Parts: sequence; structure tokens; C-alpha cells
Amino acid sequence: MEPRKTFSSRGAGARPGREFANSTPRSGASSSSRPRSSSSASGSRSYSSSSPRPRTSGASTGSSRSYSSSAPRSTSASAPRAFSSRPPLGRSFNASRGGSSRGGGKRGPRKGQHIDISKFINKTVITEEAVVFTPEHLFKDFIIDERLKANILGKGYNEPTPIQDRVIPHILHGHDLVGIANTGTGKTAAFLIPLINKVLANPKEKVIVMAPTRELAQQIEMELKGFVKGFKIFSVCCVGGAAIGRQISDLRYQHNFIIGTPGRIKDLIERKVINLAEFKSVVLDEADRMLDMGFINDMRYMLALMPKERHTLFFSATLSPEIAVLIKDFLKEPVMVSVKTQDTSKNVEQDVVRIKAGEDKLEVLHDLLINPEFKKVLIFGRTKHGVEKLAVALTKKGFKAQSIHGDKNQGQRQRALDTFKKGMAQILVATDVAARGLDIAGVSHVINFDIPETYDDYVHRIGRTGRAGQKGKALTFIG
Ligand code: ADP
Ligand code: MG
Repeated sequence: MEPRKTFSSRGAGARPGREFANSTPRSGASSSSRPRSSSSASGSRSYSSSSPRPRTSGASTGSSRSYSSSAPRSTSASAPRAFSSRPPLGRSFNASRGGSSRGGGKRGPRKGQHIDISKFINKTVITEEAVVFTPEHLFKDFIIDERLKANILGKGYNEPTPIQDRVIPHILHGHDLVGIANTGTGKTAAFLIPLINKVLANPKEKVIVMAPTRELAQQIEMELKGFVKGFKIFSVCCVGGAAIGRQISDLRYQHNFIIGTPGRIKDLIERKVINLAEFKSVVLDEADRMLDMGFINDMRYMLALMPKERHTLFFSATLSPEIAVLIKDFLKEPVMVSVKTQDTSKNVEQDVVRIKAGEDKLEVLHDLLINPEFKKVLIFGRTKHGVEKLAVALTKKGFKAQSIHGDKNQGQRQRALDTFKKGMAQILVATDVAARGLDIAGVSHVINFDIPETYDDYVHRIGRTGRAGQKGKALTFIG
């Protein structure tokens, strides 16, 4: 009866042997804070499975409107990258474009980047030929509490995704860990499952999860609530934009998990409502984005307040040199797990829409959106102002459009998001920051109305579609 959710992945075959696999039979569900054996210091252990990908020939899926520009496909983007160094600071690709005013707002300096247009095109969407990922473990194989297993299955998760398959055993063993995987691959459950297990084994255990945006923090809490149904495990979501008084009173009650954004957590620490010395486990989710958003000092401040003997987990879609420095400073002999095989999701057909001289971008967008296949469309704009303007213009044209951006308060953002999630609006117009990490089921199209500032932003944007094994399309307007 349960809809079967399966993940496929390429290159799962070439899996390096792992010493942990079932080699340490552990009795019971106890997996909590196992002291790390510092003597086994062999630096960080790396288990990257970026094996070469089998290429399937391009069965380009044609569609009614021809967006195609037959630009050469860049294959370089698919090369596995260990430490992805950022491209040199170039002139902003966008700065020269007309249209909306320069953005960036208060987020501090953002590096502009020239992005090769061919990187916006990928018509070779791998379909049936993709090697189906066969996890090494099933959820029932993990040494976790039976009640938790039941809740996992109850959520409709039948088998672990690649990142879950690879990291859960390490986290259960109490290792520090860095998990790198594309968006939409199940990183949330990858850290929540073993940490919930830890809390089940020791109800005094406290875990703090930091995420870059409010929406993401709320999403993580939602996922947590699904897993802890029926348990006496409580959480408090500490995000900006929501009333701090309520959070302060919630924090007075027993809680095992705090999930929040760095700004608000720091505020609560300064008000002495959160005492990080009590937390022995910390997760930095979307660590790369937190850095991009200028949270580096907050992250350092908070990690420094935590006990030295702690369990530290980093999750990210990319591994930049800045992240590498943080890892070195704050993680102990971390296990590095990367299941990244390419930058952009294999399920997303990508193309560009060329705006010819004299053509009106909005009209071109209108002509696309009236096609019935554009069922659930996420449109990205660069600035808060531009996003709002576009949502208003689309509404005037008769579309059901919502918007999320930093000028809206938390309630407005949440309502817009819910309306879109439930399918009551066809379109959600968003800025990069507001949409970061959002998990919205069934997004049919991502449209980059404004070109993203960096290729990383592009990867994150289009990662909103083609999730959980579904297909999606991404179109980038270029002029
Ligand atoms: P990420 O953090 O890597 O971007 P998420 O944790 O948001 O990814 O998960 C993406 C989607 O996949 C969510 O809708 C989640 O419910 C679903 N999902 C996660 N793990 C599984 C699984 N084992 N089986 C089926 N669906 C899963
Ligand atoms: Mg995530």
C-alpha cells in the first residue's frame, strides 16, 4: 500500500571496503557517545565513491517550445571534485544585465561569477538506464531502536538513500563526520535517525542542529517530528522572524533537540536561555550556505562554547576550502563521505531560454507558464524587490503566484510556501536565500528568470526539482 520510494544512483558499484560494516556487532540500541579512540589517529578517513559514471546516450526529450540553443554540453561539470575551489572573483555576470537593480542586500559581499552558458544545458537526462542504487543496508539492518525503525517505515522510507546508507553506521558509532551529497538526497534523515537513536538510548542527551534559513530549520523539525512520533522526545525550533518569547518559554521545558538558525540561536545564548555546554552533539546542515550567508563567526562562536568532547557532524552539498578550514578546526578525525557524482541532479533536464532583442522576458515567461506541463513552477529572481514585482505581475496576468523573500515576515513566508506546497498556487517566485534547501514535493519546473550569481547557486536552485527520484526541468533565461 505504501508508495514505494526508491532512489537510484550511478556508480554505486565501486564501493570501497569499509571496516565498520557489521564488523562491530553491538548489543542493544546503545550507540551513544562512544569515546573516540584517539590512538587510531590516521587523519581523516575518506570514503569517496565518485566512481566514473556510465554515460547513456542523449535521448533529448523534445518539448513544444524550442528553448534549445544546441550549445555544447559541458562535461567538465560532472567530474568529481574533492575540494571545489571557487572560481576566481570575476566581474559579476549579472551586473551587466539590465532589469532588476543590483541585489545582494544586507547579506554582505557576494561574489559574482561568470558561468558558462553550456552549464545551464543538460538534455541527457538519465532515465531507465541509470544503475539502481542497491543500499548495503536496509533500515532494519541498522543497530537502532525497533520503535524508530517502525517510525521510519511508517514515513514510507523503505530503504536508505546512498548518503543515509553510508553515513548512518558511522554516526551510530559516534564518529565525527562530513557528509557531502547533492540536495534532495536525504541528508536530513541521515543525521536525524542516528541522533534520535542516541537520544532514545539516553534521554538526557541534547542535540543542536543549525541550518542557514528558517524554512530549512522548520523542515528539519517536521522531519524530526515524523520520526519521533510516540516518543518522549521534544524539540524547539529557534528561528528569527518568529516570536522569541515563545521560544524562550518552550526552551524552559524538557527538550532534546534544538533546531535553528545561527542568528537566533546566538541571541538565545546571549540571553542565557540556551547553554551550549549541555549539548554533546551538533549538526551543521548546509554548512556551505551558512558560510556564504556570513554566519562564519557565529558558527565559530557557537562551536567554541560546546564541550570539547562532542559529536560534530557537517552536511553540505559542496566542499569549499573555507569549509575545509572549519572542518580542520572543529572536527576530530572526521569520516568523510561523499556520494556526489555530479554537480547537478541527474533527474533534471536543463536548458536555456534565449530572450531575443526586443522580446519581453515577462511575455516569454507567460507563454511558457500557460503550458499545462508547467504544473508547479519555482521561479528564481535575484533581488527581493524583483521577486515581489514578478509575483505581482504574474498575478495580474491571471496566474496563481506566491512569493518568498527576505522582506516578508515569517508568517507571510510560511503561508506562501504552504499555498505552493499544497498545489493551491502554480507558481512560487523566490530569492536564492529564501528558497535554499526547501523540500517541496513535485516541483515540475525551476525557472531562472534572473541568472544565478554563482554556479553553486544554480545547482541549489535546480535541486528544488527532480527530487526523490522524480524528473524535473530547469530553464534559465539568458538574454
Ligand atoms: P537533502 O537534505 O539532501 O536536500 P532531504 O533530507 O530534504 O534532502 O530529503 C529529500 C526528500 O527525500 C524528502 O522529501 C525526504 O522526505 C525524502 N527522503 C529522504 N530519505 C528517504 C528515503 N530513505 N526513502 C524515501 N524518501 C526519502
Ligand atoms: Mg538538507
